[in-house]
Amino acid sequence: MSRARPDEVRVLEPSSEELLRLVPSTDAAELDACVSKAEDAARRWQSLSLEERGGLLLRVADAIEDEAEALAVLESRNVGKPIAEARGEIGLAARSFRYYAGAVDKHLGQTFPSPASLHYTVRRPFGVVGAIVPWNFPLVLTSWKVAPALAAGNAILVKPADLTPLTALRLEKICRESGIPEGTVQILVGPGRTLGRALVEHPLVRKLSFTGSTAVGRDIAARGGALTKRMTLELGGKAPNVIFADADLEQALGAAVSACFANAGQDCCSRARVLVEQSAYPEAVERLAGAIEGIVVGEPLEETTEMGPLVSATQRETARAYLDGALAAGARVVCGGQAPDRPGYYLTPALVDRADPEMAIMREEIFGPVAVVHPFRDEAEAVALANDTEYGLAASVWTGDAGRAARVAQAIEAGVVSVNSNSSVHLTAPFGGVKASGLGRELGMAALDAYTEEKTIYHAIGAVSSGSVQAA
Ligand code: NAD
Repeated sequence: MSRARPDEVRVLEPSSEELLRLVPSTDAAELDACVSKAEDAARRWQSLSLEERGGLLLRVADAIEDEAEALAVLESRNVGKPIAEARGEIGLAARSFRYYAGAVDKHLGQTFPSPASLHYTVRRPFGVVGAIVPWNFPLVLTSWKVAPALAAGNAILVKPADLTPLTALRLEKICRESGIPEGTVQILVGPGRTLGRALVEHPLVRKLSFTGSTAVGRDIAARGGALTKRMTLELGGKAPNVIFADADLEQALGAAVSACFANAGQDCCSRARVLVEQSAYPEAVERLAGAIEGIVVGEPLEETTEMGPLVSATQRETARAYLDGALAAGARVVCGGQAPDRPGYYLTPALVDRADPEMAIMREEIFGPVAVVHPFRDEAEAVALANDTEYGLAASVWTGDAGRAARVAQAIEAGVVSVNSNSSVHLTAPFGGVKASGLGRELGMAALDAYTEEKTIYHAIGAVSSGSVQAA
């Protein structure tokens, strides 16, 4: 077995538990040098015209597409996700760069006309920004931070999860080879508690964008908040999928299965709580169980695989502990939850019913292939159950009644609600959570707000006024 030196990280392949790559790590003590390099790079990056900046982002998009298959294979092997899912994600990463290439010159400030003044705002980049990402969608989440940060004129230091740094490292090289000044995008691999914290607390990193668990997000909020850092926090979720009896049940239940088990349930928007109206409940449990038992669990690179292993032994143990806890508390495991006798962190997709709303399995994020199904009597109870968690990231409502769809979509506490759909994330629209699911919004033009500060300039052109508060 190859041993990692203290300055290396061992990256494993979850389907075999074997070593995939040894990756050099950055010590927290080296961060100062990385930040100074990024400051120099940011100045060079900001000296380019907006057209040049946009052109370089387009080149990054093209380069990702040129090596899409190699990136998809790398992502699939490193995370353990089915190759088809990985291909979709690489396409999304490329589209992020294309979108923000077009946005570079379209979000620049406002003017406030007055006879006495030229009064306007300019959006200023921070200079050096920091990003910390989790292991579930490594390249996509990195791209959702790098592309808007660059479009806004910043340099960015990204700390990927130790488990899955490979495609992010490749993106750093793609950016450099595409002509983005060296140092503008730096991927720094290392532990969260040392390198991650050092990035959060570095005085010259003025803005932080974090995606990960709520517990770590709170630590970052406390440390970064004490230094008045600007922050975007994309945190955990326990999304409800509310299915009324008047919905197209075939469509709703089919979608419910993929909404729970895509990426082996390791998705912040996973609709892991399936809430079904009482009259459709028995049929729903039976149909869900049949569909879940039919999910093809296998090698991530096999084209027919629908679910791969979990990312790590720890993640599998967490999911199993939730199942054991639910069983001990009186719930029933309808199907799944077994670890097959083979290498890899596999766990068959599980469905749980007869869970009390107070149980952990109904309220806490599991981040694994475990779904819970629960009945409701009416609209009011559906909304109460949907909101009965500290999280509020995503949700779905399935119904044939447009009025009810609108009422329930308004009443559910979540950053994004989809009606008759599982879809949560669109590049062009703001994305983020409420309650314990986060702070601020990413994607769309909202991301350009988040990677800039708006500065107001009041330029008197008429009678000179000395007051500090003016009417328009
Ligand atoms: P995590 O919070 O454990 O780690 C995320 C990142 O933070 C990693 O890079 C880690 O090394 C780093 N980190 C850990 N401790 C740190 C600290 N004290 N200071 C600074 N950095 C630190 O999360 P995870 O297990 O990698 O990912 C799963 C979580 O991510 C889930 O809770 C999931 O819901 C969440 N997530 C949220 C979104 C979203 O958009 N809201 C998207 C994907 C994942």
